[in-house]
Amino acid sequence: MSFDYDKYIRPGKLPHIWCPGCGHGIVMKGLIRAIDTLGLQKNNTAIVSGIGCASRLPGYMDFCTLHTAHGRAAAFATGVKMAKPEMNVILVGGDGDGTAIGGNHFIHACRRNIDMTYIIMNNNIYGMTGGQFSPCTPTGAKASTTVYGNPDPAFDVAKLAIGAGATFVARGTAYHATQIDKLIAEAIQHKGFSVVEILDDCPTTYGRRNKFKSVIEMMNRLKDVAVPVKAAEKMTAEQLEGKILTGVLYKEERPNYTDEYAKVIERAKK
Ligand code: SF4
Repeated sequence: MSFDYDKYIRPGKLPHIWCPGCGHGIVMKGLIRAIDTLGLQKNNTAIVSGIGCASRLPGYMDFCTLHTAHGRAAAFATGVKMAKPEMNVILVGGDGDGTAIGGNHFIHACRRNIDMTYIIMNNNIYGMTGGQFSPCTPTGAKASTTVYGNPDPAFDVAKLAIGAGATFVARGTAYHATQIDKLIAEAIQHKGFSVVEILDDCPTTYGRRNKFKSVIEMMNRLKDVAVPVKAAEKMTAEQLEGKILTGVLYKEERPNYTDEYAKVIERAKK
């Protein structure tokens, strides 16, 4: 029996705006399957985004959703979680929204270890605004604002999240579609700030400028570069050169901000 995605989609909102071959729909389906697996209730689950192609995702979902200002998903989501700590709060967005304009909010949400899950769709570019380079555009890659090649080194989103204090960090790819839901479900279940980076593709801006001949070629790039953490343990440094680890990369138990703040309120009441 096929999975019924429609019961989680807001009536009348499809078709979506994403270009043919864009990976964001794959991520949305993964999120829906994770929510279904965990049995999260629509009226007890908030999905929050900033601005950008990836940030259109909450608009299609039949949950409590917020489509906020550019880069401000973590700030709005923090407000939701602090006001309604019993809610499941899930943030979604792209690499530009999350690590450039929203970079400040991102690192502090990690540092505080607020009990929320952030899904970052990393397609290495600002898609919606015309293909400008983001902090995740690889060095040498072309964007509308780096037509001769990007001179900047790129952020490693997972390392950034771990360094800033996130207590669960995982990475998947849009190619490995059937693994996305498992990573997201584990992240949502984690008590603390969890980050799931999904390596994604934008054939319209990144792919075209960087001479990918087809969406399939872009997807195969994700397949070729990804190495599951378990497999990496048996590989040499030379074999891992140029590869990107996928799976659960980091996990620790640490007091989360939501619970700690509740204790402060109790102390204040006394
Ligand atoms: Fe997806 Fe890129 Fe199209 Fe935006 S511009 S919908 S990121 S393919």
